[in-house]
Amino acid sequence: MRPTISESAPKKPRDWREPTGDGPQLLVESEVVRAAVRKARQAGKSVGLVPTMGALHEGHLSLLETAKTECDLSIVSIFVNPTQFSPQEDFRNYPRDLTRDMELLGRLGCDIVFAPTNDAMYAPNHATSVDVGPIGQMLEGEFRPTHFRGVATIVLKLFQLVSADRAYFGRKDYQQTIVVRQMVADLDVPIDVRVCPTVREADGLAMSSRNVYLSADDRRRAVVLSKSLLLAEQLANSGERDVATIRRLMQQEIDNVGGINVQYIAFVADATLTPVARIDGPTTVALAAIVGNTRLIDNMLIGVT
Ligand code: AMP
Repeated sequence: MRPTISESAPKKPRDWREPTGDGPQLLVESEVVRAAVRKARQAGKSVGLVPTMGALHEGHLSLLETAKTECDLSIVSIFVNPTQFSPQEDFRNYPRDLTRDMELLGRLGCDIVFAPTNDAMYAPNHATSVDVGPIGQMLEGEFRPTHFRGVATIVLKLFQLVSADRAYFGRKDYQQTIVVRQMVADLDVPIDVRVCPTVREADGLAMSSRNVYLSADDRRRAVVLSKSLLLAEQLANSGERDVATIRRLMQQEIDNVGGINVQYIAFVADATLTPVARIDGPTTVALAAIVGNTRLIDNMLIGVT
């Protein structure tokens, strides 16, 4: 039988354990985390970094799980990065709960949590930023023009402070993974960028810290976003090649639910973000939509057969 969603089923983290009371080390100072990483590397340990903005859910935890299987020392950073929010976005109200996050990370056996302050990350005279060019201006960039500059800048800063062997990102933020890879390649950053599958709720909704904003009614409606991606996959699997047709049918499915404002449904060649008109190979369908007052994004890889 076909699973309801093809990428990944929600799961309890494999090595879930009761908190020991020790928990991860919480580091706030840049110099302290730098020293901890240096010490680990000198001892021949490999280091994995999972950058997050906190308000953790199983999507984040799956990244840590993978980091733990591949690295000796796991570090999760928690920093709500102001420069990736535009003034009208939800920076101030973004969910924050460090105590709960620490508890979850403790259960999974995370070694270090790096939670710097705003002032530590952005000095008053901070002026430099990373511009990744056109890939930061399309899709999400059309609606959030300064977003990827903020993302690339903070990710590079985190890579400089935590000189990890590997960094773990979620496929959920598909364009972000392309942006980070471009930045790492262009600026010769010695880190291996790993991309992990999207973790979803049982009904298919991609997990997101912003899902807590959804009212019960919005939450019910929001499922149609992943359903529309599955529809795209089914259409491609049954031989439909024309992107305009698939987009129209997706939009129709979303409109039938009502109350959802679709910002884009884009079809791009996987790994390059080049828009395609036909499904002739691995293609990512990415979408953004506003459900109630909440902006959600999701994507799926289709045309792989
Ligand atoms: P955020 O805290 O939203 O900045 O996300 C931190 C990291 O977790 C990013 O690499 C995200 O792509 C990843 N992430 C967020 N949601 C999910 C999810 N549902 N499945 C897998 N990874 C996710």
